[in-house]
Amino acid sequence: METSVTLQRAVELACLETTGRRTETVQLDDAAGRVLAKKPCIKVDDPRFDNSPMDGWAVRAADCEAEGTTLSVIGTSKAGGEAPPEVSSGEACRIMTGAPVPEGADAIVMVEDSKEVGNIVRILGPARPGYIRKRAENLRVGQEALEKGTHLGPAELSLAATMGHGEIEVVVRPKVAIISTGDELVPPGAELSDGQIHESNSFGVAVLIERMGGQAVRYDVVHDTIDGLRATLDSAASECDAILTSGGVSMGDWDLVRRLMEEEGKLAFWRVLIRPGGPPLFGTWKGTPLFGLPGNPVSSHVVFISLVAPWLSHCMEAHPENGPTLTDRVRVKLTEGIKGAPKKLCMRRIRIEAGEEGMTASVHTHQGSGNIHSMVAHNGLTLLPPDTDAEAGDIIDALWCR
Ligand code: AMP
Ligand code: MG
Repeated sequence: METSVTLQRAVELACLETTGRRTETVQLDDAAGRVLAKKPCIKVDDPRFDNSPMDGWAVRAADCEAEGTTLSVIGTSKAGGEAPPEVSSGEACRIMTGAPVPEGADAIVMVEDSKEVGNIVRILGPARPGYIRKRAENLRVGQEALEKGTHLGPAELSLAATMGHGEIEVVVRPKVAIISTGDELVPPGAELSDGQIHESNSFGVAVLIERMGGQAVRYDVVHDTIDGLRATLDSAASECDAILTSGGVSMGDWDLVRRLMEEEGKLAFWRVLIRPGGPPLFGTWKGTPLFGLPGNPVSSHVVFISLVAPWLSHCMEAHPENGPTLTDRVRVKLTEGIKGAPKKLCMRRIRIEAGEEGMTASVHTHQGSGNIHSMVAHNGLTLLPPDTDAEAGDIIDALWCR
């Protein structure tokens, strides 16, 4: 077991254990937010045929060189309509957006650049071959356009449909158990007795899991007893692909997750050199990967974002650039000084704003790791290297949270 590891080392160690990866085929309607299991091939050219990007006239460019040329109108090409008539010299075919370009025509004139009188059209503007959307200029049958591991968002789903896929092979969403621990925790909305607080971590962490392409399974709060914790970990290990606990990983007498993992589980590391979120642990319980997230609400979110998210990406073989992500790495200019942390990567909450000077970052609330409001009042995290303070005007690396 390693202790006090860097974030990079923590991710490395965690990635030695994975959830395993299975795939399934789902309807496109059910594929949003999923991770592509393999590259789907292009089954249909896009465009499928030469067509017009605008309403206008399909003509022969050579006919339209002289301004004010008149052409006889021979018919109409409509999207989804009958095959249009062939265009010969001196003729024009009315054409609608997305309609096939008739045989014989090699250019389009915009409808705004014409005047139609009876069955004659006067051409008043350019006839452009370049207007024609050529068959397969976007996608060609047999080629590939979506990478394995891509997170399927709105544009990816429309692209998959364009490519001809009504269903698609995706990674089975890893089932991730969330187990909150602590005698003080009761469900939100419930009456609070002295010393109790509402359990909140599991709600945010569940959404983070789902955004990463996983399936969150929330367990009832476990009280601070070794037997209760052991029983819940056993159930979760048999029902889920991974376990996230929250709380109970520090040095306190009741930090039972750490104790139980030390005594009966298999620990890979404890403590990561980050602030907030120092005490997380990782190991396996009965062969199932387990992250012990800190109980402090900000810490549990930050540890998920910085440690669990890259691990889940690895388990799903997500694409490094196109896979699911909770943050974008950016450079921001600080509007005020921010203190770093001795020996630790410091992830302070910042509000990133895009302005005339580029992206700036400022601090708006108290930064305590118990203050979940700071995650709402801010939309980013600094990436201040260990032992580094930053001053107003410094440009630093940061994570922009989605
Ligand atoms: P612990 O790591 O168990 O010592 O918890 C650290 C702090 O986080 C304590 O103030 C706990 O009351 C709080 N905490 C632990 N788990 C949760 C949770 N699931 N929701 C909200 N607060 C929590
Ligand atoms: Mg506790």
